[in-house]
Amino acid sequence: QEILRNIPCWPGKEQLAPDLGLCYNMRTMKKECMNMSDCLFCKIISGDIPSTKVYEDELVYAFRDIHPQASTHVLFVPKAHIPDAQAITAENARLVAHIFTVIPQVARQLGLEEGYRVVTNCGKHGCQSVQHLHFHLLGGNQLSETMA
Ligand code: AMP
Repeated sequence: QEILRNIPCWPGKEQLAPDLGLCYNMRTMKKECMNMSDCLFCKIISGDIPSTKVYEDELVYAFRDIHPQASTHVLFVPKAHIPDAQAITAENARLVAHIFTVIPQVARQLGLEEGYRVVTNCGKHGCQSVQHLHFHLLGGNQLSETMA
């Protein structure tokens, strides 16, 4: 139960992916779910705000960034509301690992054979603007050597 309490949830999911160790009972998580009602990416995942979907499975949603910073700019978000990289824990790390198995598949589908960059911004100094963990996939053209 203690472990389950630490795993975030999202509306509409009763139980999820027991193979990834992310199975839990929605009732115990209700309070945290309510805190997500204002989250832009939770609304995109639920379809309340439109997006251009690139990939979806039961754990992750990927869509085109509305202000692309490269020829290809896709955002990968866990359906579970994890606020940022600082909130990655031993309990939810398998979800992040899953996203990192999806990224190369999608990169291949999008024709990024020449390479790409994966970035997550965290907090004020990282210029994070949406408080729901996400990974930027940038590619399709030569990116700058500098990262900051
Ligand atoms: P970050 O600044 O790292 O938190 O990234 C947030 C990203 O979300 C930015 O690159 C925005 O352009 C992008 N973004 C904001 N609103 C939307 C939206 N409605 N649809 C798609 N991307 C969005």
